Amino acid sequence: STKASKLVYSEYGEASKVVRQESESLRIQKDHEITVRMLAAPVNPSDINTIQGVYPIKPKLPSVPGNEGVGEVISVGNNVKNFTPGDRVIPRYNAWGTWRTHAVCEATEMMKVSQNIGIIEAATLSVNPCTAYRMLQDFVQLSSGDTIMQNGANSAAGQYVIQLCRVWGINSVNVVRNRDNIEELKCYLADLGATHVLIEEELRTTELFKAQGVQKPKLLLNCVGGKNAQDCLRHLFKGGVMVTYGGMSRQPVTIPTSAFIFKDINAHGFWITQWNKDHDRSPEQEEMLQDITCMYEADLLKPPIHKLVPFNNYQEALENTINPKGFSGV
Ligand code: NDP
Repeated sequence: STKASKLVYSEYGEASKVVRQESESLRIQKDHEITVRMLAAPVNPSDINTIQGVYPIKPKLPSVPGNEGVGEVISVGNNVKNFTPGDRVIPRYNAWGTWRTHAVCEATEMMKVSQNIGIIEAATLSVNPCTAYRMLQDFVQLSSGDTIMQNGANSAAGQYVIQLCRVWGINSVNVVRNRDNIEELKCYLADLGATHVLIEEELRTTELFKAQGVQKPKLLLNCVGGKNAQDCLRHLFKGGVMVTYGGMSRQPVTIPTSAFIFKDINAHGFWITQWNKDHDRSPEQEEMLQDITCMYEADLLKPPIHKLVPFNNYQEALENTINPKGFSGV
């Protein structure tokens, strides 16, 4: 039988402490099932939060972590019509458990992805690009030439926001934390298509929307919270919308009363997991995945900087992942 291996945790805690590797023999595939060899899976902040037990999704323990990842179909059951060996697939559902080498699963749990996009692109298709896509589409009617603002702009999700804005002709004002090599980061984000990049400390003094005449943002995407979010909010256009999708600073989102009364600010939240649940197999979901795939195929999108780590060195991947300090989506 195939030599297979999976990562497992039996209690909540720090990922590098509670996650362990186990070998397993794959169970016999049934007629409506497929067997998949995993090719790559990312570590998202929400994976870490789930293992810590601080996430609204609480899998039954012991559990195999990992929400996202891409696999190759290596065999299909007799009744399976829509997959053939060699197909690349990603899970349709949250908390499927991608941190394993192989899986035998219901064919209905997986969806096919294009062979024309890379392994990294496929392994990270369903969370960050989709989150960026929905947040730019679903809250404000944006036209080419409009401006949006976001914090945590160098996050994986933020990098897709930047790139989608470039593709759709939307100006993006991107807020990041200061660091030693800030100029390097600014250049990297500008190359992706960022129209403007500001550090947090510049938010209160920036002349961007005054002397420089940049249109005020109609949409603010917030994955940080705290003072950062409040400072961003000051620049929002009258009637503008703030969408909160993460809380990396661990600080609550504070909205001044005056912003509601005199600027008619709207505040929403977004969670891609919920959106996918509500739109499972819908035309909107199909169209979004196709759109993103086409952008990859046309070289209009690239995945964020990453490091590929062999499965057996999973500890390195867990330790290298910035342990997220806030709540996260997915
Ligand atoms: P990454 O690990 O790629 O990036 C994390 C980002 O958070 C970096 O930009 C980092 O900036 C920033 N950050 C960390 N701590 C702070 C802080 N105290 N103040 C300001 N910025 C901080 O994350 P992802 O792109 O995968 O996710 C980003 C956020 O979006 C997470 O909260 C994630 O859970 C959420 N998310 C939510 C989704 C949803 O559906 N609601 C879907 C996808 C993501 P620096 O480089 O300065 O450390």
